[in-house]
Amino acid sequence: MKIYKNISIEKQEKTLQDIFCNICGEKIHKNEYGYYDDFLSIEKKWGYHSQFDGETHFIDICQLCYKIFLNNMKLKPD
Ligand SMILES: [Zn+2]
Repeated sequence: MKIYKNISIEKQEKTLQDIFCNICGEKIHKNEYGYYDDFLSIEKKWGYHSQFDGETHFIDICQLCYKIFLNNMKLKPD
């Protein structure tokens, strides 16, 4: 989950403020150079007549939660 804040410039625009893991709720940290620790970011547009009929989901997952997610898969990714 990305949290944006508005900044004052000539016109209002959004800038990325923080990123939180959707599973554990912890903040994705930045290193001393201002780069976020690596994380999984998913954007899924669900099709009509699916269980989420026409919804779009934005999901961010930290490395620790992704590792748990992988460990729970019956079939591991390549
Ligand atoms: Zn997490």
